[in-house]
Amino acid sequence: MERSAQRVSVSGRVATKQKTIPRAKWKRPDRARVERIRQRLADAYGLPHLTPHRLPLDELILTVLSQSTNDRNRDVAYLRLRERMPDWETVRDAPNSEVEEAIRPGGISKVKSKRIQEILVALTDNPREGHEADPFDLSWMEDAPLDEARDFLCALPGVARKTTACVLLFSYGIQDVPVDTHVGRVATRLGLLRPGANPEEMHDEMCELMPEGAALEFHVNLLRHGRRICDAQRPKCDECVLNRMCPARKDFK
Ligand code: SF4
Repeated sequence: MERSAQRVSVSGRVATKQKTIPRAKWKRPDRARVERIRQRLADAYGLPHLTPHRLPLDELILTVLSQSTNDRNRDVAYLRLRERMPDWETVRDAPNSEVEEAIRPGGISKVKSKRIQEILVALTDNPREGHEADPFDLSWMEDAPLDEARDFLCALPGVARKTTACVLLFSYGIQDVPVDTHVGRVATRLGLLRPGANPEEMHDEMCELMPEGAALEFHVNLLRHGRRICDAQRPKCDECVLNRMCPARKDFK
């Protein structure tokens, strides 16, 4: 067995990584199972609430800043950027070194500063039809068909489905589920997602599985579970409220 295919359990024993299942052999979990998982997570972590902030571009930049760092460092980087450059035109036109310096606490600032400015330039160069006067105004997304808003965002440099889902869900409460590394790992271990699915498939599947109106709850509670219990390397299966219904538990005994 190759080392990259191994995981060390709490007991120190080596567990096999979940094998990829081909699409043709994958069976989507039934609604009753999804509902039981949802209910147990809700009992354990409660029901999150969301007040849409209606700031899609801020959410987009915040999501870029969240890459490979924790929430605190992300927020520090975002606030420093906004303090130094209060409007997005200034961020777009600033020397890259100044943007990089502003967001340095968020880590990999060279990559992120470049990406942020590329996004702002792309919005300026390719505005939504009818929004040429203010290309940074993305408020049209609130009432647009989901596919249209999603496609527009996914066309921006480096923006993929997770970022798109964050923007739509947190800005407007639009029902799209961000599948980050924690959400994807927990959902796959629980048999909600196909082992081996790519990010595109994971997002599509999560939207299919999700009970109506449960996007935020699904995202937040799977994320909490991944951070607190279902750790990537050392899941605490003995403390897990889902351990009796988790097919991956046997891999961590
Ligand atoms: S039983 Fe273990 S692997 Fe399964 S969800 Fe719980 S912590 Fe994760």
